[in-house]
Amino acid sequence: HLGNETIKAELGRASWKLLHTTLSRYPVSPTPDEREALNTYLHLFARLYPCGECAGHFQKLLKKFPPQTSSRDAASQWGCYVHNLVNERLGKKEFECRLVMEHYKCGCAEEDGKDAK
Ligand code: FAD
Repeated sequence: HLGNETIKAELGRASWKLLHTTLSRYPVSPTPDEREALNTYLHLFARLYPCGECAGHFQKLLKKFPPQTSSRDAASQWGCYVHNLVNERLGKKEFECRLVMEHYKCGCAEEDGKDAK
């Protein structure tokens, strides 16, 4: 159980960053094994998320809106959509999901080629 709102917010920002960046690097054309891996990863992420209240809400969201694992684009848009649902519940601004791909880069130059940042 984390002590205060500042720490909870910082954990949230770090977690969303990892989540969106992971989805932005997910394969364009995933294999069945990769799709299974992402689905498992997201369900375990929701289950083990350190803020218990957040984890409970997020697990319900996953039930209602199952992770989209068919492509990089589908997964990234799904991530943006569910983050916006959390934003809405917390009274935060909606993020424009068409910007999500260019917003999250991994800095992994070799795979990114010219897109690396
Ligand atoms: P954040 O929401 O942390 O976003 C960080 C940055 O991501 C934004 O500045 C913006 O650049 C970008 N961004 C915003 N929306 C999107 C989007 N839709 N797609 C892509 N990028 C986007 N806090 C609670 O108090 N109660 C909760 O129940 C709760 N549940 C959470 C569940 C999960 C799974 C996670 C990861 C976090 C949760 N949090 C919760 C934390 C909360 O979502 C925020 O991370 C925290 O309040 C800090 O908010 P922020 O305004 O800095 O922006």
